Amino acid sequence: MREPYTSSTVYFQVDPQVPEPRLIALAGETIRNGGLVAFPTETVYGLGANALDEAAVEKIFRAKSRPANDPLIVHIADLSQLPGLAVSVPEIAYRLFQRFAPGALTLVLNKHEAVPANVTAGMDTVAARMPDHAVALALIKAAGVPIAAPSANRFSRPSPTTAQHVADDLEGRVDIILDGGGTAIGLESTILSLVGEAPQVLRPGGVSLEALRAIVPDLTYQPQYLTDGAAAPSPGSMLKHYSPRAKVILFRGDDDLAVWAAMKSFADDHDDVGVMTLEQDATRFVDLDVKVESLGLDLDGAALRLFSALRSLDSRGVEWILARAPDTTGVGLAIGDRLLRAAEGDVIDVKPQH
Ligand code: AMP
Ligand code: MG
Repeated sequence: MREPYTSSTVYFQVDPQVPEPRLIALAGETIRNGGLVAFPTETVYGLGANALDEAAVEKIFRAKSRPANDPLIVHIADLSQLPGLAVSVPEIAYRLFQRFAPGALTLVLNKHEAVPANVTAGMDTVAARMPDHAVALALIKAAGVPIAAPSANRFSRPSPTTAQHVADDLEGRVDIILDGGGTAIGLESTILSLVGEAPQVLRPGGVSLEALRAIVPDLTYQPQYLTDGAAAPSPGSMLKHYSPRAKVILFRGDDDLAVWAAMKSFADDHDDVGVMTLEQDATRFVDLDVKVESLGLDLDGAALRLFSALRSLDSRGVEWILARAPDTTGVGLAIGDRLLRAAEGDVIDVKPQH
């Protein structure tokens, strides 16, 4: 096992809209000098290094204890950086980025030889995205290089949506944490591969499939949930991911009353139970001895609160976390995907009551 990367971590509070140029210049210099900077994006916080510096990128894997076969997303601040990362970029990539960049869409393209092998886990494809966050964009510009960045959490933990989450996981393993407040979306980007025969979604995320289909009607999506030992046709498809310490159980079913009844009966039969639920359904659990974490009023709110609710219930000391799978339309698809991975596949399918 590689030694973890260690550093005395420095915090900078930055204005999320108008980041202080002096702080951004320092952070950019740290990236250029081969260091690690955690920074906010609109999806989740990223752990960044110079994407063109193999030794700097290696530090990301060591800081996160991330396996080398899990590739990183390269972040750019301007489309003019794309030809330095990817070759034979199809016209559809530019059309997609015209619509969704900056934004929560990552494209997988054929890799340029300038990109070190560890960024792409040895593959000949590279993932690229332009984040929609003033701090991230300013940092990339100040660094003067594209920034490779996975989510700024320890491997297989819930992704960080605040600088405090980053500190909880990576204190002493990152040179600078730029604290620009909470992230706006709360789930990672949608990853769309343009290197196969047909455009293929590899991970649902902040941009919905419905929105992508307006530009790429023939895209395909085949969810992949791999367990240890299985050969991964596309990376990052491990079933265990986003895991809190508590055991997550996902309840699935269309009959509201039946699903709540099943959740309540599970809570009755077990000790130290936590529940994550939409605000309007929280009252269903008031008569039970459970810790409740509200996910807000709608699916956008749930996306924003999902990872922090998992971390929060962990810190409240529960053994079990119960959640209900949402509809798979819009951002619900990505929420359901993260919940299933957090639950490591432990799903209870609830039959309608009549
Ligand atoms: P993270 O930023 O931690 O959510 O992880 C980045 C994810 O991007 C990886 O786990 C992969 O699923 C995906 N990814 C990055 N590069 C590639 C690539 N070249 N091909 C396919 N997927 C990729
Ligand atoms: Mg991640």
